[in-house]
Amino acid sequence: MERTFLGPRVWASLFVALAIGACGGGADDLSQNTGQQDNRLRVVTTVSPITSIVENIGGTQIRLEGVVPEGVNSHTFEPTPSMAKLLAQADLIILNGLFLEEPTLALAEANKKADAVILSLGDLAVTPEEWQFDFTFPEAAGHPNPHLWPDPNLGLRYAELVYDQLAKMDPDNAAYYEKNLAWFSVRVAALDQAIRTAVATIPEENRKLLTYHDSWAYFAKQYGMEVIGAVQPSNFSQPSVREVAKLIDQVKELGLPAVFGSEVFSSDVLEAIASEADAQFIDELADDDLPGKPGDPEHTYLGLMKHNLTVMVPALGGDASSLAGLETGNVFDGASGAVYPQ
Ligand SMILES: [Zn+2]
Repeated sequence: MERTFLGPRVWASLFVALAIGACGGGADDLSQNTGQQDNRLRVVTTVSPITSIVENIGGTQIRLEGVVPEGVNSHTFEPTPSMAKLLAQADLIILNGLFLEEPTLALAEANKKADAVILSLGDLAVTPEEWQFDFTFPEAAGHPNPHLWPDPNLGLRYAELVYDQLAKMDPDNAAYYEKNLAWFSVRVAALDQAIRTAVATIPEENRKLLTYHDSWAYFAKQYGMEVIGAVQPSNFSQPSVREVAKLIDQVKELGLPAVFGSEVFSSDVLEAIASEADAQFIDELADDDLPGKPGDPEHTYLGLMKHNLTVMVPALGGDASSLAGLETGNVFDGASGAVYPQ
């Protein structure tokens, strides 16, 4: 089983943060915007889990706007021409990368300011040797599974990369960003530990995932689970009858108690597989979207992971109580005004 990689720098930052005092805010907080010119960095992001990670580090000191509305398929999302203007105003454009948002990347490259930076987190967080290829993302097609963030250790890596970039572009606020990163890392470490505890309660033969959307590859590798299949084909159409029959046999053979769909990627096909194989169909995972509504404490990256594990673990016969006490809200004080398009 792989271990976390909370780097020495994060821990060093944490001690600094503890010395400064918890979750700052106050005099340097621009949330009380009184109409004077807003000189904060303008940051544009794509999918909402990434928007939330960036919000946690940038807090009230950046102007943050996500562009991929929740409830749409982020893999096939085409930005509207009006988004060109938003991208043209951005100082920093943060994407997952790994081929997830190619149309948005193309629009960003064509419209961005000369000195604006495009930060592709997934391309920096792992090396090509660490790429995972699987069901919806076969190696033959050359595009790895882009869902790094369901492994919270990689979510933290994203946060570190965001911190590095914000501190470089906005050194006046570097200490603020560093403090947010330190507190975020504490919450990620708690989440990571809670996931290990919860997964350990799932009977070993049930530590297997069949999902509709293929977003659990890096999570499974980190926590000793196995993704046995994903229903969604690589072109995001519907699977063939032969593929469906094979999945039914597999679920039956393994005696899996549950298979999983998600709100955005709900699936009649998976429901039929579950029914044929006598497994429970759980339609409540979240992949590329956050649970709840903007402003809710669970409408965050940490809330997303807590929600997913709280759904997944009991359905596979385990106990998710280790996740119950986790804090999922933003780590900074004040309202950032980040925009999560609905
Ligand atoms: Zn996805």
